[in-house]
Amino acid sequence: MIRLAGRHRAPAPMGCREAARVLQSYLDGQLDATESERVADHLEVCRRCGLDAATFRSIKATLAGAAPQADPEAVDRLQAFARDLGTRPPEQPQ
Ligand SMILES: [Zn+2]
Repeated sequence: MIRLAGRHRAPAPMGCREAARVLQSYLDGQLDATESERVADHLEVCRRCGLDAATFRSIKATLAGAAPQADPEAVDRLQAFARDLGTRPPEQPQ
């Protein structure tokens, strides 16, 4: 049972679904500090979402013309890699 008791000290960890939903806003700097922190925390522990964020950043940077080194091929490869990651179980650390 989830109950909102008016406490904001220990926000629940963010899941992939929620992270994906707010990722764009996060990258646009539209989330408040607490939400941003939750997204950042998730991106650090979740490789797949972290990669999504990196892909979005590349695309945004490319569209903005701010990162001439982020060529479309690299973005394509990154997206393919992200898709691939999403279809197989996470690797075990060696
Ligand atoms: Zn995730």
